[in-house]
Amino acid sequence: MKRFAVQFFFSLLIVVLFLGFGYYYKDETNRLWQDIISQFLPCHKPITYSIANLDSRFNLTSAELLEYTRQAEAIWETPVKKQLFEYSPNAMIQINFIYDHRQKSTDDLKEMGIVIHGDQSSYDILKAKYDTLLLNYNQKKVRLDAMLASYNADKIAYDKDVARWNARGGALKEEYDALEVRRIDLISQVNTINEAQGSINELVDPINSAGSALNTLIETLNLHVNKYNTIGSSKEKVFDEGEYISNAQGTVINIFQFNDSTQLLRVLAHEFGHALGLEHIDNPKAIMYYLNEGVNEKLTSDDLRAMKSRCKIQ
Ligand SMILES: [Zn+2]
Repeated sequence: MKRFAVQFFFSLLIVVLFLGFGYYYKDETNRLWQDIISQFLPCHKPITYSIANLDSRFNLTSAELLEYTRQAEAIWETPVKKQLFEYSPNAMIQINFIYDHRQKSTDDLKEMGIVIHGDQSSYDILKAKYDTLLLNYNQKKVRLDAMLASYNADKIAYDKDVARWNARGGALKEEYDALEVRRIDLISQVNTINEAQGSINELVDPINSAGSALNTLIETLNLHVNKYNTIGSSKEKVFDEGEYISNAQGTVINIFQFNDSTQLLRVLAHEFGHALGLEHIDNPKAIMYYLNEGVNEKLTSDDLRAMKSRCKIQ
């Protein structure tokens, strides 16, 4: 009887510890469990997602964004009439909207009145804009370099004369006044140079944004031309609009860039596709193509085939 009581106590302790552990790590346990289920029984239960971070510079409210994720869900769900995804505050997938040079470049171009569609005419318009900006930049740069060279020469000569007069124990009134004129002129040269530098700097972002968008178009349109280099920084030239990452830390969808609502829907649907376990499909119109260049807000037949095979739907 006593032995039974001890055994009972230890069994109870183990159960309590187990439940306590499960409760303490309930988010992790829950996620792990959902992960296991989706590995072995894909599409058996809806994949849950929540919005973890939304940078305000995307100019989207959470409510608007949830409307987009709902529509992105529907792209997969409607053709098979099955709930594959579900919004939940304590979700398996965290969606982040990360604002960096990628969306900044899109916004810069919009400000210049340029909206990129993945076609040749977008490339031509943008190339013309880029060439104008770069020409302007180069002309200003040549002038700036000349100003800098002239300033450096004047400064060296001035310093030399000042040193010479100092060695003699000071300049006469006439020479002193002449040196003072040169000193004031040097200050004014510095101001002019700073202004010129500022006006050149203003061109750098638009040029890099245009160059970066051109590089993406080169990739999209498979053009056989050289990639554009960025000025003044080494930003990556061709970028992902989104990514799906699943590892020990959890599962995230990061969204970086979209031009319009269609692209946003498509990039969300694409990453949802990866969440279902789908790979890329070699059809430029497909949601699961590696680039976001179609305009259809519906699955192509090969998207649908891949999803049905993964989800074991007839
Ligand atoms: Zn992908």
